[in-house]
Amino acid sequence: MLSKAKILLIYTGGTIGMKKDFTTGALKAFNFSKLLQRIPELKLLDCEIETISFENPIDSSNMNPDKWVQLATIIEDNYASFDGFVVLHGSDTMSYTASALSFMLENLAKPIIFTGSQLPIGDLRTDAKENLITAIQIASLRDNEKAVVQEVGLYFEYKLYRGNRTTKINAEHFKAFTSPNYPFLMESGVHLKWNAELFLPVNQLPLYVHKKLDTNVIILKLFPGISEQVVESVLSISNLKGVVLETYGAGNAPTSEWFLKVLQKAIQKGIHIVNVTQCSGGSVRMGQYETSTALRSIGVMSGKDMTTEAAITKLMYLLGEGIVPSQFQETFETSLRGEIQE
Ligand code: ASP
Repeated sequence: MLSKAKILLIYTGGTIGMKKDFTTGALKAFNFSKLLQRIPELKLLDCEIETISFENPIDSSNMNPDKWVQLATIIEDNYASFDGFVVLHGSDTMSYTASALSFMLENLAKPIIFTGSQLPIGDLRTDAKENLITAIQIASLRDNEKAVVQEVGLYFEYKLYRGNRTTKINAEHFKAFTSPNYPFLMESGVHLKWNAELFLPVNQLPLYVHKKLDTNVIILKLFPGISEQVVESVLSISNLKGVVLETYGAGNAPTSEWFLKVLQKAIQKGIHIVNVTQCSGGSVRMGQYETSTALRSIGVMSGKDMTTEAAITKLMYLLGEGIVPSQFQETFETSLRGEIQE
């Protein structure tokens, strides 16, 4: 008989475990053991659950690369002892963390499911219970003694998405996330339904955890009227190594001489610039319009259909890995964890 799946529930913070501060009326994180007392249903699940919490749970607006390393280390230290991991995380930056972890955890063969909620678990109308219980069930799913999901996923409001394909789209609706350029991996209704073809190919190599992330990066969003002084100043930041340039439509940008010159100067200095669209869906296609042809020729990389969250964390990861300049573009434009349609 198959033994029960062992799941590690990792609490980093977020609304799911918050309660109101009576003096200020603002929501803040509280003690994790109390969180579990509020969900007696967890005992009914057909798996063994152990829990671990960040010493100081955070609102995810305070998330940062050091804490991504802390989270990846918890997973690494417990990887052999558990069948799956559920990470409770604030929704505000959950897509960034899920993207970062997808790059940091190479050769993943077990589920890492991020979830959280829009209302605290103690709230009568909370969405936390369904999100948490189903995330644990997904992390426990096995087929022929192998985990069904072997990648970093994000479960919210009846859908499991590939983590590095998601973005937060709503601060109020229970459906807070979407995956604009890749179908959801699983849907929760009366039954959990999935299409196995959408999962990442299975990997037999041992897990390798990458812990060097370079934060000398920036996201620069274009808008009509952006000035030479602004672009020049941003690209002159000392030690800057990577830029996610959020362009228009299919990767289009102004063709003004000053704009292209400033970008070219930065690229010649060794700064990696990646073109990502500000649109919520679709792909960058440099060369489709005249307004993107020059970007390609001066050496701007294509983010294709990557989210900004995936692009910025991939830059941090590849810069941290010290990929040599001659290979950087090719590596960046290649799918490493299913974050990009090649
Ligand atoms: N501000 C909260 C956070 O991201 C929102 C949430 O949990 O959904 O931590």
